[in-house]
Amino acid sequence: MFKKAFLLLLALTLTILTLTACNSTESELYAQQKQEEQSSQTEELDPAISPEPNNGTLPESEIEDNFLLEIGEATKETIAYKDTESVAVLVNKQNSLPADYVPSDLVYVDIPFTFSEKVEKRMMRKEAAEKLEELFVAAKEENVVLYGVSGYRSYQTQKSLFAYFVQRDGSEEKANQISARPGESEHQTGLAMDVSCQSVNFGLNENFGDTAEYAWLKDNAHHFGYIVRYQKGKEHITGYSYEPWHLRYVGVELATALYEQDLTYEEYLFLKI
Ligand SMILES: [Zn+2]
Repeated sequence: MFKKAFLLLLALTLTILTLTACNSTESELYAQQKQEEQSSQTEELDPAISPEPNNGTLPESEIEDNFLLEIGEATKETIAYKDTESVAVLVNKQNSLPADYVPSDLVYVDIPFTFSEKVEKRMMRKEAAEKLEELFVAAKEENVVLYGVSGYRSYQTQKSLFAYFVQRDGSEEKANQISARPGESEHQTGLAMDVSCQSVNFGLNENFGDTAEYAWLKDNAHHFGYIVRYQKGKEHITGYSYEPWHLRYVGVELATALYEQDLTYEEYLFLKI
């Protein structure tokens, strides 16, 4: 009886410790990302998506050497990465959006989608939507035919889906391997769109990274203010698995800088130069 109670108490303590760790403070930025976390990170919600574990290429010690650890110590102070209204807003596992944050200028994006329902995932913030429409037109002119899969996702949608995965997989930790905690998905910004193409059956998986459509996107998206947010080999920095299908709007100037310097957004903001 006592043993049972002790074990229960131990389990409870461990759960609290885990939850505390998951809400790690900004000062723990990046340097604290451990190997086991690297295999458990994707923000996608479609149960069909099964991200492969990835290991980064940069040794952890090197990350600690190269990164500023305080969120207030960004090297690019002129970029409004903390402003939820800015298209440069940074959202990741260390920087979440408030539960009540809803972009004020959401519009339906006029591009082909892989589904027909008129639902929230067709939406993006106005500027991002217009530039994505331009991108799709330019791509098509070069015989690159893309489809939208998932854009805006509300906090509530994310919360419901995360709860579904917690129930299905038995713990928050396991659920977090395939689903973002509410507030930590870039899709809540209205600045992200998952895209795919016919040759991979309109799916969101790493095979998209081997398509001609992705090859075009990789080298042209920045002209329209978009970046491929979660790159291969940068998983330990972005906190997410390689997601060639996930486009994020940051504006042409910033997207071009990131593309030309071959940096993730986190590296651009926090790497010591
Ligand atoms: Zn995405």
